[in-house]
Amino acid sequence: MPGRPLRLDRPLLSVRGVRKAFGDHVVLDDLSLDVHAHKVVVLIGASGSGKSTLLRCIDLLEDVDDGVIELEGQDITDPRLDANAVRARIGMVFQAYNLFPHLRVIDNVTLAPRLVHKASRAEAEAEALAVLERVGLAAKAQAFPDELSGGQQQRVAIARALVGKPAVMLLDEVTSALDPELVGEVLTLLAELKQAGLTMVIATHEMGFAREVADEVCFLHEGRVHERGTPAQVLGNPREERTREFLRRIT
Ligand code: ADP
Ligand code: MG
Repeated sequence: MPGRPLRLDRPLLSVRGVRKAFGDHVVLDDLSLDVHAHKVVVLIGASGSGKSTLLRCIDLLEDVDDGVIELEGQDITDPRLDANAVRARIGMVFQAYNLFPHLRVIDNVTLAPRLVHKASRAEAEAEALAVLERVGLAAKAQAFPDELSGGQQQRVAIARALVGKPAVMLLDEVTSALDPELVGEVLTLLAELKQAGLTMVIATHEMGFAREVADEVCFLHEGRVHERGTPAQVLGNPREERTREFLRRIT
């Protein structure tokens, strides 16, 4: 099958007019967001503003009620698509790293490629070691998760998401569960991945990090992107009163 031609003029990921309600509680209300290749978009907003729901909709963990989500030009909300095949093109990392405690690091990382991509053990292990190298944990391949610090476990979860070279990485408050002294190593890794050209959507409360790595910051409020712009604009000189209020509360 020929590869899709890379169109740098079109967004890699395009969320358009997405609506998502739980019962009569509208969480995403006609929300639109474009992410271009090699860019980092940071989502900020109060707890409950819909950041996780948006990421979960993109990863097809939630169905949208309306709207379109295009990845590399393909509408991934089309119910005829195989959701697992779509998810293999997306690397999702959660706040709780969700590693399997009874599996060694290497087996946590190779599980999906062996199940979903039907890769051989040798192929899967070679790729797993390469991604563990990338997150600085090749030496821990044979360890069990509880032998690692929280920061190291989260880096393993990031390694697992990098397997299969996903088109886009979605990271949902990946440092929120960490002790403060472990946050830095994970944020440093994400900054390195940005330098390497990865496309990422990152929900975070780490404003210093957002300022440093975001190409665009989107402030979510009442189910919409209420304000968007460069970190200097949105964090340094917000136009909207809601954004100012949010930043006052969190900083
Ligand atoms: P954030 O990540 O910005 O804190 P969430 O996307 O987690 O926000 O939540 C947005 C709103 O959707 C919240 O009011 C939350 O309670 C609600 N919500 C999220 N998931 C569900 C669910 N599965 N069922 C019902 N309500 C939900
Ligand atoms: Mg959340």
